[in-house]
Amino acid sequence: MTEELFRNNSYIQDCEAKIIDIIDEGIILDKTIFYPEGGGQPGDNGQFKFNGKNFEITSTSYKDKKIVHFVNSTSEFDLNQNINCQINWERRFNIMRVHTCLHLLCSLIKAPVTGGQINERKGRLDFDVETKPDREFILENINKLIEEKHDVKISSITEEELDKNPDLVRTMAVQPPRGTGKIRMISIGKNIDYQPCGGTHVRNTGEISSVSKVKIENKGRMNKRVILEFNN
Ligand SMILES: [Zn+2]
Repeated sequence: MTEELFRNNSYIQDCEAKIIDIIDEGIILDKTIFYPEGGGQPGDNGQFKFNGKNFEITSTSYKDKKIVHFVNSTSEFDLNQNINCQINWERRFNIMRVHTCLHLLCSLIKAPVTGGQINERKGRLDFDVETKPDREFILENINKLIEEKHDVKISSITEEELDKNPDLVRTMAVQPPRGTGKIRMISIGKNIDYQPCGGTHVRNTGEISSVSKVKIENKGRMNKRVILEFNN
């Protein structure tokens, strides 16, 4: 099992780790700062360094419950080798900002989420709602929540507590991972947003760049897609 350092501290940009497995597509480590693709958030890319050489990590995702760091060739890697890991921080930080902003969007539209996607410059959520959300309302209030600089905190509840409060789950498409007894929760400010999430977030909404544009697409009678674009 890989220790997932990004869960408790999403700001770690590099770390030392040991190779514990090698498969055709990539490398598995004893611990990692690379976020594996999931919940609409793309996997990290970056570099491994050892023996004075750099190796590109093209992406990261789960395979057979293992976090795989994808490389072009595994031929120069050895089991038990110690390496230095560096994520592409500029890209990851932008993704963290967009991801956290989607939590703010969730707080403004009181409807279940059926899907979503995040990249460096844009984020979107699909809502199970009949009435088209008000674009101006979202633009004004989401930028207000960014400017108000609310803290983003990580906590946890038990699986039983979640079962008693099923409304905490906003995303119908992605159920929080179970099996450890604990569910990771993300809260923003005082009651702005509180929901299970395994992704990476900024520590304060003030780190998010302002939203420049809100687009709303009608994807069906009960499906409205809200797209956020950012100033930088
Ligand atoms: Zn999240």
